[in-house]
Amino acid sequence: MKNLNEITKQELKAIKVVTFDIDGVIIPTGTQLRENQDGTEFYMKSKQLSTKFIKNLKILKKYVRLNFSSGRNILYLKSLVNEIFDQDIIIQAENGNLTWFEGRIIHPVYSTNYFNKLRDIRERIKAMMLTDKRIRGFEPKMFILTPHCDQMEDIPNLVKQIDSENDLYCLWTNEGYDIGSKTMSKGQGIINIAKELKIDPKQIMTTGNNYNDKEMLQSGKGVSVEPDRIQAEYFIEHKPEELGGELLAEFLLRYYAS
Ligand SMILES: [Mg+2]
Repeated sequence: MKNLNEITKQELKAIKVVTFDIDGVIIPTGTQLRENQDGTEFYMKSKQLSTKFIKNLKILKKYVRLNFSSGRNILYLKSLVNEIFDQDIIIQAENGNLTWFEGRIIHPVYSTNYFNKLRDIRERIKAMMLTDKRIRGFEPKMFILTPHCDQMEDIPNLVKQIDSENDLYCLWTNEGYDIGSKTMSKGQGIINIAKELKIDPKQIMTTGNNYNDKEMLQSGKGVSVEPDRIQAEYFIEHKPEELGGELLAEFLLRYYAS
């Protein structure tokens, strides 16, 4: 891995899209979620983009297209970026599963068997919630399943048990697990955007800090903001109180200004 300061002007010139991961990259981590067992009551608390970052994005989007890729759902992402939203903004939700691109929503087609598996896993976790206080509820999503809970082997074990074909991933997110089809990832999402824009995936800069970012850091021009956890061609250094994505925006603005 190379420090981002080593990136060449030529490489930066080729970049057409900058992709920001959300949690731990452009907003501090620490989303709280609580749901009752029958799903009739739901509480969720998360953070916002900083005013300074929004100001920087407004300038940055004059030079490159901006993409926001997250495991979170599309409604949340849309409201997060509402202040800068226009036809050039791309949103990728649920680990690459839903792409908002120029007024359309693009998503893969899954079999009934896939959705049934997610339902079966959900029902089993709901049953566990009755006695296991480590499980707090499910984040509302369409194509993946996201139980919020402590890190506990019971969840990946349950996925293995129900998914005998080994079609599903089960990734720890620091707040719970993302469970979804291995055929889709944030990385595949980047390849799909590159096709839409008729550019090379390496012309899309990607950022990330976690396991669900691995593929997109590989398929795009990857910048890891958590190099101890996740590898990429480049990494960006930041202090614990700083957000790597905010520093990247400042870095790119300095480049475009020069
Ligand atoms: Mg992340």
